[in-house]
Amino acid sequence: MTTRLVLASNNGGKLKEFGEMLAPIGFEVHAQREFNVPEAEEPHITFVENALAKARHASRLTGLPALADDSGVCANALGGAPGVYSARYAGEPKSDARNNEKLIADLEPHADKSAYYYCVLVFVRHADDPQPVIAEGRWDGVIIGHARGQGGFGYDPYFLVPSLGKTVAELTAEEKNRLSHRGQALRALVEKLR
Ligand code: IMP
Repeated sequence: MTTRLVLASNNGGKLKEFGEMLAPIGFEVHAQREFNVPEAEEPHITFVENALAKARHASRLTGLPALADDSGVCANALGGAPGVYSARYAGEPKSDARNNEKLIADLEPHADKSAYYYCVLVFVRHADDPQPVIAEGRWDGVIIGHARGQGGFGYDPYFLVPSLGKTVAELTAEEKNRLSHRGQALRALVEKLR
C-alpha cells in the first residue's frame, strides 16, 4: 500500500530526489503546489522550527502527511551565521553572488574559516502530530576566497571540503548527493520511517 505525502516545497530537484528515496518505503511524494498550498512563513531563528512550521502548514491545508526541509550554511567564527538567513544573507532580491561576497567579507577578520552545511527534515503524520520525525545532516568544510567549479548552487563554489581538496561545485551531482547534508538527512529519515 502506498501513502500519499505532501512535500512542503515546489523545488523540482528536491521532489525528484525525495520521491526516489521514499518510494521504496511506500510513500508517493507530491509537491505542495499540486494542492495549491501557498508558501508558509519562515519566521523562526532555528532550522527545525522553520521546517516544522512548513510541514504543519502543508499538512493542515492538504490533510496529508507532510515532509519539509530547511537548510543553510553556518560559519563557526560567525556564531553560525548566515544560518537560517542563508538564502537572503545579503538582503533582497536574493543573490548567490552577493551572499558569497558578504560571507567572505564577514569572515575576513577571522582566522577560522570553517563552516558547515546543515539540513533538517521534519515529517508529520498530521498537522497536530505531537511526535514529528526529525532527521539531520551536517557537512563540514572551509570557506575560501575565490570561486572554484561550475556545479551545485548557492555557496558551493566557495565551500571547500578539505578531505577531498575540492569545492562542492567541483563534485558531480552523485558525489554531492552521497556526501551532502541533505543526502545524509534524507537517508537518516528513511531509516527512521522504515
Ligand atoms: P533551502 O533550505 O533549500 O531553501 O536553502 C536555503 C539556502 O541555504 C539556499 O538558498 C542556499 O543559499 C543555502 N544552501 C542550502 N543548501 C545548500 C547547498 O547544498 N549548496 C549551497 N548552498 C546551500
